[in-house]
Amino acid sequence: MKQALQAFVAVILFSAPCSLYSQGAPAEKPRVLWIAAHPDDLDYTAAGTMATFARQGAQVYYLVLTDGGKGSEDRTMTPERLRDIRREEQRAAAKVLGVQDVFFLDTQTAR
Ligand SMILES: [Zn+2]
Repeated sequence: MKQALQAFVAVILFSAPCSLYSQGAPAEKPRVLWIAAHPDDLDYTAAGTMATFARQGAQVYYLVLTDGGKGSEDRTMTPERLRDIRREEQRAAAKVLGVQDVFFLDTQTAR
């Protein structure tokens, strides 16, 4: 279950996503929740699409399932410091793309 959860990357569109491409003005802004296992997954997969959605007026949010505290080759790196660095990087990248907010579930990264 844990591995399945960490391998899970999905884009969920809700609140009338078709209005992103319709001619008429939508009643409310479409919202997009993008879910990924690790902090940097989001920027390797569909960042351009998310930026486009944001530019078209959608409210885009990220949900990162794990804490990102593992995976560094640096032997002096602690999981806590790596987690904090990746969080900061993820928030900075999201801001550039026009993402409204980033949420972290803090499930421990396996490996
Ligand atoms: Zn990943």
